[in-house]
Order: sequence, then C-alpha cells, then structure tokens
Amino acid sequence: MPVDVPADAPGVLHVDLDAIRANWRTLRDRAAGAEVAGVVKADAYGLGAERVGPALWAEGCRRFFVATLDEALRLRAVLPAADVAVLGGLTPGTEALFVDGRVTPVLNSLGEIARWRAEARARGLRLPALVHLDTGMNRLGLERAEVDALAADPAAHLDGVALRLWITHLACADEYGHPMTAAQAADFAGALTRLPPAAVSAANSSGLFRDLPVAQRLARPGAALYGINPTPEAPNPMRPVVRLSVRVLQVRRVDSAMTVGYGAAHLVRRPGRIATLAAGYADGYPRSLGGRGRIAAHGRTAPIVGRISMDLLTADVTDWPEGSPAPGDLVDLIGPHRDVDAVAAEAGTIGYEVLTALGRRWHRAHSGIVPPPPGAVARPEAAWAL
Ligand SMILES: *Cc1c(COP(=O)(O)O)cnc(C)c1O
Repeated sequence: MPVDVPADAPGVLHVDLDAIRANWRTLRDRAAGAEVAGVVKADAYGLGAERVGPALWAEGCRRFFVATLDEALRLRAVLPAADVAVLGGLTPGTEALFVDGRVTPVLNSLGEIARWRAEARARGLRLPALVHLDTGMNRLGLERAEVDALAADPAAHLDGVALRLWITHLACADEYGHPMTAAQAADFAGALTRLPPAAVSAANSSGLFRDLPVAQRLARPGAALYGINPTPEAPNPMRPVVRLSVRVLQVRRVDSAMTVGYGAAHLVRRPGRIATLAAGYADGYPRSLGGRGRIAAHGRTAPIVGRISMDLLTADVTDWPEGSPAPGDLVDLIGPHRDVDAVAAEAGTIGYEVLTALGRRWHRAHSGIVPPPPGAVARPEAAWAL
C-alpha cells in the first residue's frame, strides 16, 4: 500500500479502502438480492468513518448504522444524502436532535416508540423509524411482552411513525451450526407474522454466511468489511484491510543474564540485539502479547520479548541481519505475517476489540481515498424508504 507517512509518525495504521470496497461487494454478492448496509459504528471499527463512509458510498452503499447520535451527526457531515440509523436508540431528550440532523433512530422499547410518536405529533410529521425486536440477546430491543402489546394495537403505538424496518440481532452467528441462530430467526419470523408489514433485517457479518430461516431485505455487516473473518471455522473469505506498522526507536546489544523491561520479565540467554518499538498498550497493542506476539519486516519475523509497556515494546531481532532493523524503520505488528484475527487470538480476544482499541497516536493512512459525495439532501420523511 503506497502511502505517504510523516517522518514524525510513531506508527502507521494503513487502511486499504479498496479492500473495504471489495469486501462490501463480496458481501453484496453473498446477500442474494438483499441490500447491504454498512455498519460504521466506533469510527468504522477504529479505521476512520469519515473515509470509510464515502468509500462505501462510492461502491453503492446507501444505508449506514452507527452506535450513537454523535457518530451519526459526524457521518451525516460527509454523507449528506445517506440513510443513517443509530443502533443505541432514542435517548430521552435527543428527539429534536435526531429530527434536525435527519438521523433515524432504531427504537428499542415501547417507551422509545412513544417518545418518537410524540415528537411526530408535535411537529405534524410522519417520522421514519426502525424498530428492534429482541430475540435472545437481552440487551436492546422490544421484549416479548412489548411485542405482544404492539401486535395487539399497532396503529395506536405507531401513529405518526413511518415504520421502515424490523430488525433483530443474532447472538451466535459466528459459531458454525449454533442452534441459537436458527431459534432466533424463527422467533423473529414468528413475531413478524403478528406485526404490520415492513422490511426486515437480521444478519450481521457472520449472519450473511449462515442459512437464516427468515427472508430479509437488508443485511448489516460491520466486521467483515474490515477484514475480520465472519466464518471463523473456515478460511477467511474477506480481503485484509489493515496493516499496522511501528517505528523502531533503538536497537541495543544485550548479553546473557541481562533482563529486558518491567518486572525483568525477559531473561536474555545469548548475545544478541533487542529492538525497541514506539507502541505500547496505550496505543491499543494488547499488554497480554508481552512475550507472545511477533513483529515482521522484509519477510522476517521476530518474537516480542518482555512486557508491553505503555508506549514501548521490545523484540528480539538477534536473528535478523546485522543493521536490520535500523532506528526509524517501520516494522509490522499486524500485516501479512499476522492478520487481525491472528493477533486477537494470540491476545485472547477478538479482532473487533483489537481494531477498536487502536489509539489516537497511530497515523491513519488510507489508500484509495474517494471524496465525499456532494450534498444532495434527502427529505427527512423519505429516509430509510426501503
Ligand atoms: C455491531 C452490530 C452489527 C454489525 O455486526 P458485525 O458482527 O460487526 O458484522 C449489526 N447489527 C447490530 C445491531 C450491531 O450492534
């Protein structure tokens, strides 16, 4: 990925926007006629929503999900005509901000529906909304009794609400063959038969790779767009998106019986060289990878030794050719030698956490940048017309 890196950047998070676009196309082909939205919450999983959003738009993606209203308003600034929905729901007091920002809430309870209905009445408008039915996450969404109440008198609850989409969220889609996925899909399909007709959305990234016994109009992948494997039981069908490279600060000679780093946790057993790199747990590189991870450069890898500290980590480069690496060189922490999922597995976590933890000090270098589209502003009441 040829990108310009400022000389003073301690590390570079390369984001391949062309790969994100290719991944969106792969998911669209996989969706068998359903539309594919882009989930760009948490700043597009740490990769920069203001770059990722326009890249997805250029590929044809028109609908976006974020977690918070704040994220929605930021995305709205670069995608004036996109449909943007907030998964976290309608926090009390934010109703006017949603309407004025042309942001659509995912309504997660009858209380949220009631407040949206009141806002619509106060403005004399029909306000679009998505409604989330809980089918087993027990986190957000209407619970069973609320679905029953809604089904008993939908007109009263939804007066003034332009219902665009019923959504649910799968708990176990990443686990191949997990019975919960089919159970949730069946529960969702059952609830839908009792509710007013509207478009339907169930699948996250992994859900797109499972046979869901519910016909859906819209899929909501996030992780797979960013190269995380949606089918952990099988080879990754997605293209890698991220490369994480860090500067070498020093290379020092060490000899046996010396120790490296906090806690004197690494004991040197032979004459050799230790490279000190400009990233640590403050940058989101997991502290649990002390003594476990590997760095790479020029087709060679070297073990991380000693503890990861806040701003630094150390690797044993004794087996690399003399003079390599040199201070100022960039070496990889995530790249061809270890993808995001591999680093996550080694750290005992998931790729989602690794990506979203990457901190503010990384210089985010995007290849394949597209300019934001011009501001053809959609009418608020037309939003999410699926
Ligand atoms: C985060 C999220 C998604 C996207 O999930 P991935 O596993 O990243 O594809 C979809 N729907 C909801 C409700 C979410 O919270």
